[in-house]
Amino acid sequence: MATIDRHATALVLAHALSAAERGLAVIPLSRTKLPALRSPHHEQPEPNPCHGECGRPGHGVYDASTDPRRIRTLFAAAPWATGYGIACGLPPHHLIGIDLDTKSGTDASAALRELALRHLFTIPATVVVATPSGGRHIWLAGPPDAVIPNSASRLAPGIDVRGAGGYLVGPGSRTEHGIYSTVAGTAHLPPASCPPALLRLLTPPPRAHQSALPQMPVPRGQGLVQFVLAAHEGQRNTRLFWAACRAYENGIGETLAEELCDAALQVGLTEREALSTIASAARLTGHA
Ligand SMILES: [Zn+2]
Repeated sequence: MATIDRHATALVLAHALSAAERGLAVIPLSRTKLPALRSPHHEQPEPNPCHGECGRPGHGVYDASTDPRRIRTLFAAAPWATGYGIACGLPPHHLIGIDLDTKSGTDASAALRELALRHLFTIPATVVVATPSGGRHIWLAGPPDAVIPNSASRLAPGIDVRGAGGYLVGPGSRTEHGIYSTVAGTAHLPPASCPPALLRLLTPPPRAHQSALPQMPVPRGQGLVQFVLAAHEGQRNTRLFWAACRAYENGIGETLAEELCDAALQVGLTEREALSTIASAARLTGHA
C-alpha cells in the first residue's frame, strides 16, 4: 500500500468538501480512481446485495454524500485516498459527465463536435475537467425527471457518459497517472443544463406515455422516484435505499417517503422490505 501523505490527504479532503458545498455528493478514491474504501462484505460470496443498508461505509458510489460530517468520516476511514469521486445523477444538479477520451488515437472532441453539428446543439459554457491522459470531462446538469444511464462509446467512439450510479473523478484528485484539474475559466461555473437535443441522445427511448411529460412542472424528488421505478430485479432495494438517502439529505425525505415506498412496491418489493429500507436510509442520514 502506498505511504500516507497527510498533506495530500488534507488537500484532497478540502477539494472534496468544496465540491460538496456546491451540492455535489462525493466519495474518497484511491490512486487507481476506484473507491478507496473496501467493501465491508468482501469476505462474503459475490454478489452482495448490500449497498449501504448495513450502515458501514465501503459501498462505492452509494457512500456518496454532501454532508461535511459524513465526508470527513469517509476520508478518515480512508487516509490513503488521493482523490474523490463525484456521484452523477443526484439532486440538485443531476450531474451528467461527458467523458471525452483521447486514448488509442480516437479524437472524441471531434466526434462530439460532429454530433453537435448533426443534431443541432452547442455545448454551453460549463465546468470542464482535464484528465491526466489529455481527456476532458464536460459537466452538465440533467433534468430531475430522467435517469441518464452510463454508457461507453455508445454516442461515438471515445465518448463515455456518466449518469446515475456513475461517478466522475473530481478536480484536484491525484491518481497514478497525474492530477485532474479544471480547465482555466471553468472552475467557477455551475454545471450548465444539458442541451435538449443532446439529452435525447443520452436517454433511452421513452415509453409512449412519457412523451408529453417534459413540458409539465415536475415536483421535487421525482427523479429519485423515477430512479426506483427504473430498477431491475436485483437493484430494487439498492436503488430504493440510495434514493431515500438522497431524499433525506436534501430535506425531502419525509415528504417523499410514501412515494418512494409506492414506487418500490410497483417494482416488486414487499411493503415490509420497502419500509425497512427507507427507515435505514433515515437512520443513516440522521433523520430517525
Ligand atoms: Zn453493507
